[in-house]
Amino acid sequence: MKILVINCGSSSLKYQLIDSDTEAVLAKGLCERIGIDGAITHQAGAGEKKTEQYAMPDHDAAVKRVIEKLTDSEVGAVKDLSEIEAVGHRVVHGGEKFASSVLIDDQVISAIEEVSDLAPLHNPANLIGIRACAKLMPSVPQVAVFDTAFHQTMPERAYIYGLPYEYYENYGVRRYGFHGTSHSYVSKRTAALLNKPIEDTKIVVCHLGNGSSICAVKGGKSVDTTMGLTPLAGVAMGTRSGDIDPAICEFLAQKENLDIAGVMNVLNKKSGMLGISGISSDFRDLDKGMAEGNDRCRIAMEVFAYQVAKYVGAYAAAMNGVDAIAFTAGVGENQGTIRRMVCEQLSFLGITLDEEANKQRGEELLISTPDSKVKVFIVPTNEELAIAQDTQALVK
Ligand code: ADP
Repeated sequence: MKILVINCGSSSLKYQLIDSDTEAVLAKGLCERIGIDGAITHQAGAGEKKTEQYAMPDHDAAVKRVIEKLTDSEVGAVKDLSEIEAVGHRVVHGGEKFASSVLIDDQVISAIEEVSDLAPLHNPANLIGIRACAKLMPSVPQVAVFDTAFHQTMPERAYIYGLPYEYYENYGVRRYGFHGTSHSYVSKRTAALLNKPIEDTKIVVCHLGNGSSICAVKGGKSVDTTMGLTPLAGVAMGTRSGDIDPAICEFLAQKENLDIAGVMNVLNKKSGMLGISGISSDFRDLDKGMAEGNDRCRIAMEVFAYQVAKYVGAYAAAMNGVDAIAFTAGVGENQGTIRRMVCEQLSFLGITLDEEANKQRGEELLISTPDSKVKVFIVPTNEELAIAQDTQALVK
């Protein structure tokens, strides 16, 4: 089944046309600067990747251009639009309304709107993409796949904050967690690599990218995760602070003469690896800096690895055991240094890393030694494929 996967942001739209039966990516691309001027980068199969300027005053224009590209006789991937059997949309926040992916209808659109106050930057953009596709492909079924849905299995004790309970009841203030599509996909792959039914596994997935979250997956279900009401919580990230003493907000506001928005801007955009190193949010730069003796890069890397390891330890406790740790996403898949630093901190769990295997990157691989009590894997994530698979299951 040919499925178009859409990840729509406020001024960008990423797309992949996936054959969900063969798992092949037939075409992919990115529309940028929508509503500003517009550019589209498109690639069909293993063909050439080309970027062109193209005026896109709104998301309708972007979706229209994507369809033109996908059906183009030279750079396209299908003869005509009727070959695309479904569209799968990434939606950031499903609140408590969505514990799994759903076929989109008017009620679903209203429900996504209702939880938009929980993700004011993302959900409205996701809805714009859904509406544009509905308008231009009215007969094609559309599916919403939520970043939060996988974590809806968390028990109360993991999602209730130590705040007045009315805030949960009245406003839905609780831990939701994100990267759910990735944690779900990677935990399934890890169970397959362990050669065990997922029901019998305890897995910690470390999704380490520009945004990072760790998830405890027991029996195939998320039982705890580091991100919270928003993706700001958990480990320190590329530019996000992760968990800090909440009283720091007031303290900084006074010292730096900032309002709430100003403090939030610091926590979201100027903190984490960028804030600590003063150099970059990119782990490649930090790794290089550390190797060259830059002390602030070393501190950033050590803080990150230490926080990740602390959560792995916490989640081993949360699940009363752990069979495997899976590293995924940009840093988890590619950065041997971080994987080694995390695993060194976890030797008490009986983890030993195979240093040679850990030099590899970007492919499914066991990187712990045969006698390691907990197995450690690299498992590349594939959120687009997971969205396509969910979409196929619902449309069929
Ligand atoms: P996002 O959260 O934006 O999806 P990614 O999962 O793409 O982020 O991860 C981006 C991070 O992955 C960057 O910090 C980058 O340094 C790191 N990364 C990507 N490729 C490599 C690589 N080949 N080697 C080391 N680090 C990498």
